[in-house]
Amino acid sequence: MHDATQKIQSVTILGATGTIGMHTLDVISQHPERFSVFALTANTNVESLFKLCQQYAPQYAVMLDANMAMELQKQLAAIHANTVVLSGQDALSMVASHDEVSIVMAAIVGAAGLQPAIAAAHAGKRILLANKETLVMAGSLFMQAVEKGGATLLPIDSEHNAIFQVMPRGHGKHLADMGVRRVLLTASGGPFRNSTVEELKAVTRTQALNHPNWIMGPKITIDSATLMNKGLEVIEAHWLFNASPAQIEVVVHPQSVIHSMVEYIDGSVLAQLGNPDMRTPIAYGLGYPDRLVSGVSSLDLIKTARLDFSAPDMKRFPCLRLAYQALELGGTAPAILNAANEVAVEAFLAEQIDFMDIPRLIEDVLTSATIEVALSIEQLVAIDTQARVSARQWLTQQKVAIAC
Ligand code: NAD
Ligand code: MG
Repeated sequence: MHDATQKIQSVTILGATGTIGMHTLDVISQHPERFSVFALTANTNVESLFKLCQQYAPQYAVMLDANMAMELQKQLAAIHANTVVLSGQDALSMVASHDEVSIVMAAIVGAAGLQPAIAAAHAGKRILLANKETLVMAGSLFMQAVEKGGATLLPIDSEHNAIFQVMPRGHGKHLADMGVRRVLLTASGGPFRNSTVEELKAVTRTQALNHPNWIMGPKITIDSATLMNKGLEVIEAHWLFNASPAQIEVVVHPQSVIHSMVEYIDGSVLAQLGNPDMRTPIAYGLGYPDRLVSGVSSLDLIKTARLDFSAPDMKRFPCLRLAYQALELGGTAPAILNAANEVAVEAFLAEQIDFMDIPRLIEDVLTSATIEVALSIEQLVAIDTQARVSARQWLTQQKVAIAC
């Protein structure tokens, strides 16, 4: 319950124009007595950010792109808005670490979300982490920054949010010390759960963008179709819950009603269930430890009727195997996997490569790279750049091979 004497919490939403960003604003709008919007950020979408600034009147609006920021500033000046418009990576970090901010929703897609999330960690914010790529690229350094900065980290990815909800408090120690045997990460299996390898080779962009259960941005939708999303989530779970790869089992569950589970050493398995709607984990993160109304409807178990489970097929979906491999390799390997995946997904969305080229590209880049110990964010950013160069070379060689 909300205490009337409680201070209104100021929120920065990184990636406000995206799916998670918009869902966050939806939940915030339902609780004006609890939250105010401090800053909203976007990559290049002036039209969307302008509309959001009109509606929420944030103190700051940040666009990564300087020209787009100028355009936004012009449009806001024309309506005499008081929002200050900034641009660039440093401005993203500034609004993520500003003294007036209590909560940071980290919902930028991809490696671009790393630096502002680190800034929020150093500044001791409550971080609602949707950007799983931060933990994939820099899990160890990010968790250290959270601890050193005194930040509160709340997972927003539905699976990790589910695990967080049913895990005993005080995680960070070994799972066994808390009576936990393992975590069970559920996966919808994506739109091609039952497709043959032959069918997978012929998958089109439109088919891959059509997820059966969740509405999400294009990158994570493709990741869900290749099962790389689940692979990234295995790495995410490793860092969030201090779970070894052997303690993280992926279970295909096509209905997406059980969002994940925790198995205890006495054989108990606790699960969190709900309709597949990201406003539930977002409301949980915003309100924690209170529960907030999110706008999500009641789960109708009679209508759901059945819950199915099966093992993932790593032969048809090699991306999941590659993610486990990167986690086992450790050091800079997950950052390389992530960068190669981002380039591969972009190329698939641009119809430059086939669906099954995505794991081929990632495997080639990962196996040809030298894996180092992860020591600093600067090093990981350089490794990310280098892996993207290798991935683009792979694409060029591919084009040459096809032309010959
Ligand atoms: P999206 O594509 O809908 O939105 C991405 C947001 O990031 C946009 O606001 C965009 O302007 C901004 N952005 C993109 N590139 C940027 C850059 N280079 N610099 C600064 N800002 C940039 O993505 P989404 O579906 O909202 O996902 C966001 C994050 O949340 C991803 O990491 C995704 O894996 C994670 N996530 C999403 C869902 C979901 O249901 N959508 C579920 C779990 C986790
Ligand atoms: Mg997820």
